[in-house]
Amino acid sequence: MTQFSDLRLDPKVLKAINEAGYTTPTPIQAEAIPHALEGRDVLGIAQTGTGKTASFTLPLITRLGRGRARARMPRSLVLAPTRELAAQVAENFDTYAKYTRLTKALLIGGVAFGEQDKLIDRGVDVLIATPGRLLDHFERGKLLLTGVEVMVVDEADRMLDMGFIPDIERIFGLTPFTRQTFFFSATMAPEIERITNTFLSNPARIEIARQATASETITQELIELPATKRDAAAKLKREALRAIIEAEGDKLENAIIFCNRKVEVDILSKSLSKHKLDAAPIHGDLDQSLRTRTLERFRAGDLKLLIASDVAARGLDVPSVSHVFNFDLPSHPEDYVHRIGRTGRAGRSGKAISLMVPADQKYLEQIEQLLQRALPRGTAPGLKAAPQSTPEDDAPAARPKRSRAPRSASKAAASDAKIDAPAVEPVTAVAESAAQPPAPAHGEQPSAPRERRDAQRSTRDRGGRRDSRDNVVGMGDHVPDFLLREFRVA
Ligand code: AMP
Repeated sequence: MTQFSDLRLDPKVLKAINEAGYTTPTPIQAEAIPHALEGRDVLGIAQTGTGKTASFTLPLITRLGRGRARARMPRSLVLAPTRELAAQVAENFDTYAKYTRLTKALLIGGVAFGEQDKLIDRGVDVLIATPGRLLDHFERGKLLLTGVEVMVVDEADRMLDMGFIPDIERIFGLTPFTRQTFFFSATMAPEIERITNTFLSNPARIEIARQATASETITQELIELPATKRDAAAKLKREALRAIIEAEGDKLENAIIFCNRKVEVDILSKSLSKHKLDAAPIHGDLDQSLRTRTLERFRAGDLKLLIASDVAARGLDVPSVSHVFNFDLPSHPEDYVHRIGRTGRAGRSGKAISLMVPADQKYLEQIEQLLQRALPRGTAPGLKAAPQSTPEDDAPAARPKRSRAPRSASKAAASDAKIDAPAVEPVTAVAESAAQPPAPAHGEQPSAPRERRDAQRSTRDRGGRRDSRDNVVGMGDHVPDFLLREFRVA
């Protein structure tokens, strides 16, 4: 079996790897590093969790060992789709380059330009960036990419999903064509294939896992929930999730819970916290420093449940996550594999539990087709019988009706977050609306909701006045409201 010492890496790098506790290279490292050290382009088709970050960082550090950086002209460039992923690459670099004198700068959004400018001005060996922020610096005239000897594109398929491909093409065009390129993607969509054909030169193609295979160390389970209305489905899923978390007990050390929408991430996080569970959200709309702190707490074991969107959690390396939950089945089947790949890392065992409602059937079919097997079915322990699909199941439907102005996402989150709160008594709501000043007589429609008219009737009854409704001959139940109104002679 190949050992790190067989790989002709810089002895300083070997020392750092040794200290990190790595004994043997992972398959992608064993295959990619020799080609990379020979100066070849590398096309790595591998998921996160395979050790791919080290497969490009180790040869990069070895290659840059000789030579010096010039002001504003980084010698290498690593592009990652998200801030978290870029920060993670930077952390890896710090670990493996600790015995070298190489310098790095991390260019990500949400951080002031000033400090980043200073580092670039001084000259850096490795520039790690998200595409947008890199181009911002370039356009401000602070950066030249003509000195780039090695360029790395990590998680290219996610770049494609996020619409970064035009930026990537532009950045390729700003670097010298003599550069060496390492390009990583979990899957090879046609658009990715096109980019690699255009910008890579006779690359060593290394495919580690079959496209989108889930690790064998992950136990997967699918919990099918009964049909309900949309809002009731979310409530039911929250109940099921809490029941599962409780049933897993101490086996659940920590978990990442994925939702499809940021709004849902917020709602679920608030709901779990309200039920005294240790949960915090992470998604792209949250302040960067908060995202970083939340992630650090989760990594350090100070936070048990991380509620995440795909983009924020993509490629996160938290070495031990006991459970992954799909609160929503992902709409892209590849995301299923990425999500559950957060657990069962580095040979550890992990559990991935997905919730679904009948409306998710199409997503399930796509996932099972990709995995080429059916997901084992499980049941949500101790879950109450599925509520019937009536409006009363859902607090918002029972609240007083408001005008239908479009709601902002945060308002929606704030109001929807109350879903788990005790339902507002419908009778109270109606009584409140009945207490409004009377509308002009011609504004009242005979078809006014029955409960409102009933409430008006009961209000009148409470006031001890005679209900004249029965006396309006020929009107049946449909008595126009103005006919019932009292009037006094001045
Ligand atoms: P990555 O796929 O780059 O996100 O790496 C997944 C995890 O594997 C990270 O926590 C790395 O620190 C770890 N790792 C990388 N290479 C090795 C190795 N050769 N031996 C053991 N762990 C490794």
